[in-house]
Amino acid sequence: MKIFYYDIALNIPLRRCFTYKSRERLVKGSRVKVSFGSKKVLGIVVRRIIKLDPSIKKDSIKEAIAIDKYSCYEKPLFNSAVWASKYYHHPIGEVFFSFIPTVLRKDSTKTIIPFGKTSDYLINEDDKFFNLNKEQENAVQNLSKIKGFNPALLYGVTGSGKTEVYLRLAEEKIKKGESIIILVPEINLTPQLINRIKNRFTGEIGVFHSSITPKKRYETWLKSKFGEIKIVVGTRSSVLLPLKNLGLIILDEEHDQSYRQSEGFKFSARDLAIKRSQLEKVPLLLGSATPSLQTLKLISENKFSKHEILKRIDGKKPPKIITLDINHSKLVAGIAEESMLAIKQTIKNGEQVLIFINRRGFAPLFECESCGWVANCSSCDSNLVYHKARNRLICHKCESAFNVSKKCPECSSKELKAYGLGTEKVEEALRLEFRKTPIIRVDHDSTRKKGAIEKIYSDIHKSDEAILIGTQMLTKSHDFPKVTMCIILNADNGLISPEINAIEKISQQLIQVSGRAGRNNNVAKVILQTRYPNDLNLKKIKTGNYHIIADQCLKDNKLKSLPPFSSICILRCTSPNSSNCMKFLNKVSNLLCEKNKIEIIGPLPSIPSKIKGNSRFHIVLNTSSKAYLNKVLIFLTEEFYRWPETKKVRWTFDIDPYDMS
Ligand SMILES: [Zn+2]
Ligand SMILES: [Zn+2]
Repeated sequence: MKIFYYDIALNIPLRRCFTYKSRERLVKGSRVKVSFGSKKVLGIVVRRIIKLDPSIKKDSIKEAIAIDKYSCYEKPLFNSAVWASKYYHHPIGEVFFSFIPTVLRKDSTKTIIPFGKTSDYLINEDDKFFNLNKEQENAVQNLSKIKGFNPALLYGVTGSGKTEVYLRLAEEKIKKGESIIILVPEINLTPQLINRIKNRFTGEIGVFHSSITPKKRYETWLKSKFGEIKIVVGTRSSVLLPLKNLGLIILDEEHDQSYRQSEGFKFSARDLAIKRSQLEKVPLLLGSATPSLQTLKLISENKFSKHEILKRIDGKKPPKIITLDINHSKLVAGIAEESMLAIKQTIKNGEQVLIFINRRGFAPLFECESCGWVANCSSCDSNLVYHKARNRLICHKCESAFNVSKKCPECSSKELKAYGLGTEKVEEALRLEFRKTPIIRVDHDSTRKKGAIEKIYSDIHKSDEAILIGTQMLTKSHDFPKVTMCIILNADNGLISPEINAIEKISQQLIQVSGRAGRNNNVAKVILQTRYPNDLNLKKIKTGNYHIIADQCLKDNKLKSLPPFSSICILRCTSPNSSNCMKFLNKVSNLLCEKNKIEIIGPLPSIPSKIKGNSRFHIVLNTSSKAYLNKVLIFLTEEFYRWPETKKVRWTFDIDPYDMS
């Protein structure tokens, strides 16, 4: 009897496959059941081994039992996953298992079979009740001509009607019987967007993200695979959904940080979407009003094409941004007198005000006035934030909640005070001032419950005058047409941050938040409170023209050899014992210091330097050659297997990191 040998990837943190045998031919990318040690585990078939390594004893090879007759990863998708494992230097098994539904990941009794109900897609012409403007029309025309791998950016200022362009392009693909995947940032998956798509097409629209039940996710995955649904809207985890006959990938708000997964398998869904588009030879459309520097660089090199919509759909001018010097102002909960007057006037006009402050909770510092003790999380190196609504001190790193101490644990003084500013404090101060006005807070805490965000949006749209207070959740693509005044309380933290991409981030955030305001009004105004009114970057942000600031960032980064003109990898290391981290990272640093093609920074303590009882340190590797970086990382991985120091730490590579600390 013929015996076949296969490399099988297991869902374990080892950067290798394992050899198993089978009496039947196995399908590449399909699931199998194998014994590993004393356990039965699931694996994915990676490749057939034609010539067995002579050092392996044939008798010792265990058997792999096929579970499905279908593959989880058809060929281009399979190669996308293999690429991701190599590019991010992440264990292949973990990559394969992270993109299949939990049900398939855990349960060998569930097998892949067609769901059996195919949706018919018709276009609801009544939904297209308005005409496209010239710019939108041009964009649709040019974008629909694109074939194969030719990434394009739709640069549309906020309010320019990018979604309508997406819908028209989707329509073209549906007519050809092709399927579409629309990727959106985590927070943007609002009923507003889903409803727009549902109103346009009859037929089932797949929705795929982390808060959908495992059962529903499994169902959507199956229906995508067998062509039973043709349109899926989802967050980063849907980037490798196995859509049959894929015709287009759309990635909205391509600059958004939530495309980056920062825990476990650290990858960028934007970059993986680009690779998938290349391997599947399907068009990719990135959309943004504030595109990432990487995308702008690729456009300047003619690798991506650019399509612009510079006019807002309502024909109105973009909001006017003014800076307010608060160095000599009296502040109430962070709000200057001038801003307060502007809020009053807006409310009097029956309009809405949006107040942006990027910190949730009541006050970020809880300390003793007598001895200076500061409330800290017991397992992280992080200040506890006072949350008045829950009357708890909460760690924003591990979400542990602590009772609010009545006495200082160090000196027993009762003089304990909360300092600083968060959304709750702003809300409280405004409630005292505006007793009759609806005040709506939008942050992680107020939106945690299921259905909460939908209710908040509906309350906002129902009210006339209202005050919205929110964190960066408010800067994402939901529109608030009744907002005519926008007050930004703490942009200074972003302006003076030492992070390398701080200016890119803060300008994206400020331009996005300003864009939320005044969709239907003439006089939307944005007041940016600052202690640095003469800051050069701020002056550029004030113009509201993102290109001016992005060009400057690109010039600066080129000069300093920073991304997108270089490649960065952060080697992160954690251990309950900080000296273990230092021993490991120092050894790495000593090993690499003679290599002159790579710049090494660190070891440095990460911020925060402790989370859940584990100390955290890192080294930054920066080089102008991606290929060289790859070589170095492969070399390091092999070294690490041999080092005794490696056994005492947990390490990961963070490629193209979003956060540098
Ligand atoms: Zn004290
Ligand atoms: Zn903590």
